[in-house]
Amino acid sequence: MKPPGSGFVSSIMSHNPTVDPIANPRHFPMFVSATMFRLLRVSAALLLPPWLVACTSKPKVAQATQPSTTASSPMPTTNTPPTTPSRPPPLTPDEQRIIVGKGTEPPFSGKYVNHKADGTYACRRCGSPLFNSDAKFDSRSGWPSFDDALPGAVKEVEDADGMRTEIVCAHCGAHLGHVFRNEGFTAKNTRHCVNSASLSFSAERASERTTAAKQSGVAYFAGGCFWGVEYYFEKLPGVIEATSGYMGGHREHPTYEEVSSKRTGHAETVKVSYDSSRVTYRDLAKLFFEIHDPTQAGRQGPDVGSQYRSAVFVSSEAERKIVEDLIAKLKARGFAVVTEVHQAGRFWNAESYHQDYYGKTGKQPYCHARVERFGT
Ligand SMILES: [Zn+2]
Repeated sequence: MKPPGSGFVSSIMSHNPTVDPIANPRHFPMFVSATMFRLLRVSAALLLPPWLVACTSKPKVAQATQPSTTASSPMPTTNTPPTTPSRPPPLTPDEQRIIVGKGTEPPFSGKYVNHKADGTYACRRCGSPLFNSDAKFDSRSGWPSFDDALPGAVKEVEDADGMRTEIVCAHCGAHLGHVFRNEGFTAKNTRHCVNSASLSFSAERASERTTAAKQSGVAYFAGGCFWGVEYYFEKLPGVIEATSGYMGGHREHPTYEEVSSKRTGHAETVKVSYDSSRVTYRDLAKLFFEIHDPTQAGRQGPDVGSQYRSAVFVSSEAERKIVEDLIAKLKARGFAVVTEVHQAGRFWNAESYHQDYYGKTGKQPYCHARVERFGT
């Protein structure tokens, strides 16, 4: 994970205030304490009109149920939203303000807050399907709330405020809103708090969406530094999205620093969302065994530590059989494979600066290269 030979240096740098957080984002210390965060939130709530503190925390029902009457740009309210045309029309100035300017519509003003029809919510700007109506629930926050997104449809990025996690359309980058976790609303414990203005609804797409959902799969691989693993999976045709994160540990919301301390048990893991009509789980697993060295225990290349161990987290017996079959094939070819196979647990997204690291920096992976290991 770390640049070669920098393990010791980086542990010093992470406490060195002179390190430039932009140039060295992974060494940037988390200096906003929980207390500061609460104070900021309270002061924001006291000083700012409601739509400026939108999508902050789990809403207090009594406070949040009053729509703003002082909104500068109130959104139209209707119970019969139009269906999505094949090519979305140009954005209105209000939509522009929210989707491009990362604005927030006033609570209870959007057309999809109380919308309950069965179908698909797509990106208002590019038309990409984002949320299934099955995932919509009533959070009483004043904004449409979804406890899950379609695979690979939504990207999470650190909000400019440094506190919240912004969600954007993975296809076009349109601002959607924010995501909150552990509020206890539904079993998935996740709330995608989305502006109605960022969405368009289509009842007609429901059947297509169901088909698409059936064709999509998710796989989890740990093979050393997740930057390199993500890099190679992103390039594989049929992969919708690869996301860096953590799995296999025992602490909730692990941070990169905690995982690096080796005390949480997590492995740097890549979540691969894929279109199973274009690429199979077996193809993914084969690629996994060829882009990292599965014979290295407790390390990968220059990266040493249990967080860099080789592991596959399977979600079904079928996946387990495929992985075990590939391991047997490699062993028959003389590779002393040490890859662990475990039942998939909860996946935690890594910090936004770890996502698409090589794509953003233009650098090449130092820790991974594709090596043919299965023969013809
Ligand atoms: Zn979009």
